[in-house]
Amino acid sequence: MRRKLEEVESGISRCMSQQIKLQQERGILEKERLQILRGIRFSCPRCGKRSTLSRWVFIKTSYFVPPHGCTGGDYWMQRSPSECGIKCPRCKNHFYIPSFPQQEKFLNILEKVGPMQVALLFKCVEETEEEYLRTLCK
Ligand SMILES: [Zn+2]
Repeated sequence: MRRKLEEVESGISRCMSQQIKLQQERGILEKERLQILRGIRFSCPRCGKRSTLSRWVFIKTSYFVPPHGCTGGDYWMQRSPSECGIKCPRCKNHFYIPSFPQQEKFLNILEKVGPMQVALLFKCVEETEEEYLRTLCK
């Protein structure tokens, strides 16, 4: 009985150390993927120049939720990354992602890294309010 327990416990600790190793490998691979994705080029629809994703600025967009009911106060909600904007590093024009010409290629990359890591793809992140972004896009 005791021997069996020892066997099982050593099996568990073997699994745990393998799990740690796999997590470390995964972390390294995810970093590599991020570097590759950051190097993908996008053309600006305004100035026509191509720049790697790592030079574009991500425009994080939030929208206003008006007060509701007796207890619900007003607040700002973050848009999902696919509904935000980007800024060309050359001409500094802002573009709304849903109307960006290379939208499909772009969203594919955002999906690969997931919403938590989107910021790491870009040069930096700027925040804006939705109405302001819409104005810039006209
Ligand atoms: Zn441009």
